[in-house]
Amino acid sequence: MGYRPRKVEVLTLKVFRYYFNDLYHTQRLLNWSNESKNQNRYQHRYVSLGPVHDPTDSLQPVLDDPDMLQDVCAADFTYGDAIKLNGFLCKKHASSDDFFFSGLAYPRSTDNTFGATPTLITVLNITGLNTLGMAVSRIDFAPGGLNPPHLHPRASEIFFVIDGELEVAFITTENKLYSKLIKSGELFVLPKGLIHFQINKGNDSAVAIAAFNSQFPGIQRVPNALFGSYPDVPNDVLAKTFGIGINQVKKIKSWLNS
Ligand code: MN
Repeated sequence: MGYRPRKVEVLTLKVFRYYFNDLYHTQRLLNWSNESKNQNRYQHRYVSLGPVHDPTDSLQPVLDDPDMLQDVCAADFTYGDAIKLNGFLCKKHASSDDFFFSGLAYPRSTDNTFGATPTLITVLNITGLNTLGMAVSRIDFAPGGLNPPHLHPRASEIFFVIDGELEVAFITTENKLYSKLIKSGELFVLPKGLIHFQINKGNDSAVAIAAFNSQFPGIQRVPNALFGSYPDVPNDVLAKTFGIGINQVKKIKSWLNS
């Protein structure tokens, strides 16, 4: 006969798991409340958390471990049709090269529509980033170059200026704009999922490094999403959205794709 937790204990566990998403602390709480009871009884109590595990429960418990359970998990892309929970499978044998990348050493051409070139490096480029929740980017700017309004759906960003002087800004969901003119050695924080941009205010080229707290932050550029999607967002939708004519919509589309 196992110990059956009282209703109030089960509820406390549910609330803790729901709000703190944390099995460790809920278990500690239970341990603490049960200190005076013998170990055997405690073990019974531990395995008798049936109601919390019930998948039909309205407060779905989260039973995942909050951190990775191995030191390294270099991504193995060879199992194309394998089930992936949130990331990639681990290589059986990782090597030093899984953690190395030299592709950000040199500037890339900024000869494009916006005069700026972001180079986002993710787990797809550095397999050793798998499960680490990190990615990095180098952004090169011509004088006056603009990294146009964009967002990263899965990561916040730290934007660090290596060389030059850039105006950095983000806009909240309440349409408040936060911005700052920053120079070499200074940084600006861009919260997850918010639209942001950077523009080179100096007379020389500029370069920045951005760090992300996701191995695959994603990038969605606002102008390209609206005016460069495939299939197209209908011209009349864009015309009405921005209060412009169909010809202006077509002009923007062809300019973005030039
Ligand atoms: Mn960004």
